[in-house]
Amino acid sequence: MSTTSAVFGAIEAGGTKFVCAIGSGPDDVRATTRFPTTTPAETLARTIAFFREYQQQEGRLAAIGIGSFGPIDPDPRSPTYGRITATPKPGWANTDIVGAIRAALGVPVAFDTDVNAAVLGEARWGAAQGLTNAVYITVGTGIGGGALVNGQLVHGLVHPEMGHMRLPRDAARDPFAGVCPYHGDCWEGLASGPALAARWGQPAETLPSEHPAWALEAHYLALALVNIICVLSPQRIILGGGVMQQQQLFPLIHHETRALLNGYIRSPALSEAIETFIVPPGLGGRSGQLGALALAQQAAQQRVP
Ligand code: ADP
Ligand code: ZN
Repeated sequence: MSTTSAVFGAIEAGGTKFVCAIGSGPDDVRATTRFPTTTPAETLARTIAFFREYQQQEGRLAAIGIGSFGPIDPDPRSPTYGRITATPKPGWANTDIVGAIRAALGVPVAFDTDVNAAVLGEARWGAAQGLTNAVYITVGTGIGGGALVNGQLVHGLVHPEMGHMRLPRDAARDPFAGVCPYHGDCWEGLASGPALAARWGQPAETLPSEHPAWALEAHYLALALVNIICVLSPQRIILGGGVMQQQQLFPLIHHETRALLNGYIRSPALSEAIETFIVPPGLGGRSGQLGALALAQQAAQQRVP
């Protein structure tokens, strides 16, 4: 099958909202819809109705890609493949999202984490074009990271959970214990949007740009990025999500990441070129949905069932 003229479906399955799109790339998005994430039955019914209507009018989609909130089971050999697994989101634990979409629409379905989809989309069309090793981090309601290593999205035992890495916390500088129900002061527990709101007593988007919250936030982001750099050696790191709308964070993160690395890893990307190494998404707010489209294209090429 030629995938250059084929049309694909994309589902950005978020814990707050679903975004569905149909097209073949950033310049050819033929339809989109978005709606809040309610119960699995209602949300998946709306998703299926959107694609079914297109298929009835325009013909079969070549594949559908799903970039999902998690944790998920992305292993096609596992009996629980295609499910959202242990989420605390009411009603969603063990939801067989791939099974529901495939049964209703009869097309190949690709399934990965929202952040793995985003890094793939950024590598195809955005800020990581031409790179084989890149990381996408979202800093929003949670913190999550997707990784492309040697051109492949990283899975293994399950999938990476970068947002739950442990970070050193100086209790004198930051007595806040963190919001993660599993770990307290892991990265997400210390630096997600809800962590900012809980520490400072007001929504993150209402904290003024000169508030000390942002220096501490940049500190935690830099500590985690140093860990990612040391483990994966990415060629670029893309930071997206609601909290990263605070543009003043970028120079703070550049400065602190460079200082923490302290010249040990020799690359211009980690010194004078660090502004082009830690960057916002090239696809703006569309990394997730276009990433899901890229997952679908990959599935069609690889003939995923
Ligand atoms: P989600 O993670 O639910 O997909 P977002 O990436 O939009 O959605 O993240 C939402 C979180 O980001 C909330 O905790 C919110 O307070 C925070 N947020 C949204 N916009 C901003 C902003 N402009 N500045 C700082 N924080 C923001
Ligand atoms: Zn945690």
